[in-house]
Amino acid sequence: MLPHTTYPPVVTSAIQFALKTPPQGSIESPQLRIPPGYSDVQIDMVYFLPHLSRADAKQINGLSDTVIDGQNFQQWSRHRPADQWRPDIDNIETHLLYCHSLSRRGVEQEMSYSLKISGRHYESLRSHLFPGDGLEAIAFALCGRNRTDDGQILTVHKLVLIPHDQCERTPESVTWRTVALAAILDDVRRGGFALVKFHSHPTGYEQFSRMDDISDAECFAAISSWLDDDEPHGSAVMLPDGRIFGRVSENLWEAFSVISVAGDELLFWHSTPDEPVDRSEQLEAQIQLFGSGTVSRLRRLTVGVVGCSGTGSFVIELLARLGIGAMVLVDSDKIEGRNLNRIVNSRRDDIGDYKVDVLKREVESFGLATVVEAVARNLYDWESVIEISRCDVVFGCMDTAEGRHILNKIGTYYVIPYFDLGVHLAADGAGGIDEASGVVHYLQPGGSTLLCRKAYTLNQVQIEGLYRTDPEQYKERSSEGTSMV
Ligand SMILES: [Zn+2]
Repeated sequence: MLPHTTYPPVVTSAIQFALKTPPQGSIESPQLRIPPGYSDVQIDMVYFLPHLSRADAKQINGLSDTVIDGQNFQQWSRHRPADQWRPDIDNIETHLLYCHSLSRRGVEQEMSYSLKISGRHYESLRSHLFPGDGLEAIAFALCGRNRTDDGQILTVHKLVLIPHDQCERTPESVTWRTVALAAILDDVRRGGFALVKFHSHPTGYEQFSRMDDISDAECFAAISSWLDDDEPHGSAVMLPDGRIFGRVSENLWEAFSVISVAGDELLFWHSTPDEPVDRSEQLEAQIQLFGSGTVSRLRRLTVGVVGCSGTGSFVIELLARLGIGAMVLVDSDKIEGRNLNRIVNSRRDDIGDYKVDVLKREVESFGLATVVEAVARNLYDWESVIEISRCDVVFGCMDTAEGRHILNKIGTYYVIPYFDLGVHLAADGAGGIDEASGVVHYLQPGGSTLLCRKAYTLNQVQIEGLYRTDPEQYKERSSEGTSMV
């Protein structure tokens, strides 16, 4: 049993824990200076002897030397964010855990971790963690690791709900058998997954408890040694109202920068408060209409738009004017004369330029501080997939079945909500229009797909794929009379 409920004897056990899995070339004797007024004064220094250095020889910030008992210690100044020192919880013991995590992760403070959950998984977690009896419950998620330049996005792919009758549950604790976890470790190792531990706080307690600190430290030390990896895992808590907060296993004081749910509602919980909205006159009307909370939330989103022609250019225009913070535009085509009548903001002297570059220029000229990444590549290019994978939401404005099919798969794989938009005008050949129609699909990761909604057929996808990758064979097969529709 992992001692979720058992609180080990004070300092000595924490020191033993800190030494149990020492980082390479690392701490032999963690020491603390306790400022006057302890215990509700934050401890914000860490001292090392021998001095630590980075394996990549890069500089460690905030260092100075301090002599303690005649010995020259390396002093790390590490002020925690205001809300990360918990006066009623933190003490020497938790600070030692903090020192331990700093020595592993503290030199990489720019790393950022986030967690994405589909609506289906979220609902299933919620009903398991809150079965209605007011007692804590526990579950694990196997998560894909989407590595970015400055961290990882963990995407929930599979849940393991630990049956209630296999746990000892109270309103403030849950104790569970590690054997339940051992059964899935092979899957985790083979898939290179991250494990995220979820438990509930039926009392509504809005932070990790001291017992959580101890339990997480032990649980993840065990998981790392079982898996023999040096990768971060995670721990998260769900509150009765469905909110989730969480942190990374390697540094128990490093919160997930954002946890999101792509379900019937799009939910985002950030670890830092929303920035106050710049009440510049451009956004004032939006603030009056939607409220400053919504506008702040939009500013924190990165939205991808794939397909930047007639439909896409209007979507981009509207998203930018709504005040979206960052956009990723994907399209490999250049502006042609025939596009000028339908790509908003395009001009004659743009002919020959990439659509994404022209639209990036226009959005930036609005003066709304939108950060735009222009990706002049098609969707089959790995670069495009990587850029889309870090988006919070993606809009597809393509007219090909193959493109829509692939974007649907990308959305599912990376747990990104996908809005598919299309407009169709059928000319009657005599100057009139037989039909004008538009369609919007909202596709949740793991939910129904465009294919099962019959937005296109697999045959169409195959034909378009053949046309794109092997035009010669496409022609041959067409002339042989093979059914191409
Ligand atoms: Zn807890």
